[in-house]
Amino acid sequence: MYSMNVKKDKIKEECGIFGGFCTQGNIAPYIKCGLLKLQHRGQEAAGICCGNEQQKVVKNNGLVNFAIDNSALKNLDGKFGIGHVRYSTFGDDRKENIQPLKITYMGEDVSLAHNGNVSQAKKIREKFERIGEVFLSSSDSEVILKRLIFSLKKKPSLWKFEEVAQCLDNNFSLGAYCILLFLPNRIMAYRDSFGYRPLMFAHCNEGFFVASEDVAFYGLNVRKIIEIMPAQGIEITKDNYEIKTFSKAKNVCQCVFEQIYFSSPVSNIFSQNVYSTRIKLGEILYESEDKDFIADVAIPVMDSGLGCAIGYSRASKIPFDLGLIRNNWMERSFIQPQQEKRSLNVRQKFIPIKSIIEGKRIVLIDDSLVRGTTSSEIIKMLRSCGAKEVHMRSVSPRIINTCIWGVDIPTRKELISYDKSDEQIALQIGADSVKFLPQEKLREVFLGDVWCKKCFKEDENEIFLP
Ligand code: SF4
Repeated sequence: MYSMNVKKDKIKEECGIFGGFCTQGNIAPYIKCGLLKLQHRGQEAAGICCGNEQQKVVKNNGLVNFAIDNSALKNLDGKFGIGHVRYSTFGDDRKENIQPLKITYMGEDVSLAHNGNVSQAKKIREKFERIGEVFLSSSDSEVILKRLIFSLKKKPSLWKFEEVAQCLDNNFSLGAYCILLFLPNRIMAYRDSFGYRPLMFAHCNEGFFVASEDVAFYGLNVRKIIEIMPAQGIEITKDNYEIKTFSKAKNVCQCVFEQIYFSSPVSNIFSQNVYSTRIKLGEILYESEDKDFIADVAIPVMDSGLGCAIGYSRASKIPFDLGLIRNNWMERSFIQPQQEKRSLNVRQKFIPIKSIIEGKRIVLIDDSLVRGTTSSEIIKMLRSCGAKEVHMRSVSPRIINTCIWGVDIPTRKELISYDKSDEQIALQIGADSVKFLPQEKLREVFLGDVWCKKCFKEDENEIFLP
């Protein structure tokens, strides 16, 4: 889902979704548990919609535990449901934009939760507005729901999996989406034909569940977990589930940042374990160091830098240590909509351990460098604790382009790598040296032609032509 800022027409978002059918009582507590395990995908707002025939929604700004407290949970009953954790940009935190989005059509409830970004939504919205349609939110999820209603023109209980898929494919085929639809006594889930975002299914003793990442199923009695492939979806009813292919998968284009940054290290995204990927990235990052490079300690920028720093340390034999402790009660800095908040938060989020840092030549390993704000604040912090040298390393190549598939990468000019050399970046962030993983090295970790790496590429046009 993205939220569309009407003035700047800027789009960005990375969210988490969870839903399904529960065989053991109400589904609401299961959805809340699932959302808590997906909290890393969005911390601005959360919502749950539950029911059988009729649906009830609870949603609010804030972390899952604040947005859906236990008293709110008690008001939600029903065996079917969907939930959402949200991340958006520039403070567009109106309650109407929080998902799941529920509407009533021909006397029946239908709700939707969405992870991704569909670029055609803006045009479709404008078309609707020209014919007098009113939107209650600035979210593209409402556009998707309205498009479905206009195309199908019948009670939601009569919507067929295939016709919903066809409508999505016909209208939003250049977008990135994983969608959960809650119809009377039914859940339908869809992953777009390029497969930018992940979608997982679990058959458990407790029921049938679908989620952005398999970490969300942890704690359930899982019988089997299946990855929903690009151009596939799943229909879940009271007694059964069926995985269906709705079109031919296009040039599959899985976002490498799901592995590098977004997903939990526990998760298996696009058939690869995230933690193992990060270890490997750290190992191959070291291969590009100059032969005479020395450091006393390899320190990760937590959390996604952890596996990478372990891999780097294993390959280099430079001892690994935790020089920065992360305050887990703060929100993630990249997952923050406003620049000012971002820089302030860094200092509250990381707490340095002076005894590890003082007098040391540090190699600092992070998942990526986007604007450089976080790195610059961290380096100041390390220097104030007496670090002798700080060498910044990024396991992702230089990010030089924006993303239209739902990831909050700023404009090209804001990207620190867009027009600066390694030396200029080092100067700007206050590091002794800076290095990125060479782009060609990514192939050693992300095998085959099924990965999106467009934000590492120069040609801006390419990004609009998947
Ligand atoms: S452009 Fe970059 S961030 Fe966007 S989907 Fe592709 S790899 Fe992911």
